[in-house]
Amino acid sequence: MASFLQQAREVVRRCRRLARCTEEPGRITRTFLSPPMHEVHSLVRGWMEEAGMRVGVDGVGNIRGVYGEGPRLMIGSHLDTVPNAGAFDGILGVMIGIALVARRPPCAVEVVGFSEEEGVRFGVPFIGSRALVGRPLKALAVREAIRAFGLAGKATLPRDVKGYLEFHIEQGPVLDSKNLPLGVVESIVGQARYDVRFEGSGNHAGTTPMNMRRDALVEAAQWIGLVQQTARTIPGLVATVGKLRVEPGAANVIPGLVHATLDIRHADDAIRDRAAQQILKGTQWEERSKQDAVPTHSGALAAAVKAAGYRVHRMVSGAGHDAMILAEKVPAAMLFLRSPGGISHHPDEAVRVEDVAAALAVGARYLDTWRPA
Ligand SMILES: [Zn+2]
Repeated sequence: MASFLQQAREVVRRCRRLARCTEEPGRITRTFLSPPMHEVHSLVRGWMEEAGMRVGVDGVGNIRGVYGEGPRLMIGSHLDTVPNAGAFDGILGVMIGIALVARRPPCAVEVVGFSEEEGVRFGVPFIGSRALVGRPLKALAVREAIRAFGLAGKATLPRDVKGYLEFHIEQGPVLDSKNLPLGVVESIVGQARYDVRFEGSGNHAGTTPMNMRRDALVEAAQWIGLVQQTARTIPGLVATVGKLRVEPGAANVIPGLVHATLDIRHADDAIRDRAAQQILKGTQWEERSKQDAVPTHSGALAAAVKAAGYRVHRMVSGAGHDAMILAEKVPAAMLFLRSPGGISHHPDEAVRVEDVAAALAVGARYLDTWRPA
């Protein structure tokens, strides 16, 4: 049998090969069911079959390979990318799943490459995993894209799937800064988004004395400072003002109205809610979306990391992942691989071959002891 390091090299090579399936020459861009996804499916199908899996594409374009019979562990991640992406976000988790099956594990496994996670094409994320857990696809445009790709629009999670495991690059700097190859995800953060409004009075920038102004942007700027200060005092909290719209938005007019967004995340929903109240106090705000934190089943994975000879570093995922959706139905676990330089959603996104080998060693241990819940 190939060593973990040999397999890791092949995993990286396959990720680079799939990166050539793109909508935009010279850049990696592969959105939901776009034409290059046909080639992705054909390559992934070949590798899955070579590893001994029975392969099919479900009604929303998730490619699925089944190894063995009866109750099984699902290993997956996504096949789509953001525009001008790197080669590893998502796809790496699918390639690692296939490599683990090629080692002929003692349990049955289903490897899934989700058709959509990033939400680029229709502004709706997690289309592949959401369809799999039975959430209806409401957007008409999504249903039309599915039909245009030649698919029926339905996916089901078989009763035999009893657990979920996802390998994913960290997409952040924490593991790299600690010089660790792997991180065990304990929970995926909850997040809330708000629209915040600041009102002033628009007026002439030349004739209105400074002491007679109500400048909405100055008020918003002070508030942004407060967002930063508050978030820094609460461990584990991240809060971001990512978007501002200034009205009327002219160089010679005092800003009369500012619309701002607030994105706030924490692993503990109560802490997040309290921090949001504190930050939003005294502003005019409206809640746009809210997703509670999702705990993972990290015990067996942490044990596998230890058994494979690596340090167990437990961490929170600050980004959403397919594991968060699957966790609605089955116990889900997630392992992060170090992102060199913390870079992701960028062509310089990378992964170390040794870290992929470490993830394979951990995955092999995990499968050796996995039992259906
Ligand atoms: Zn991803």
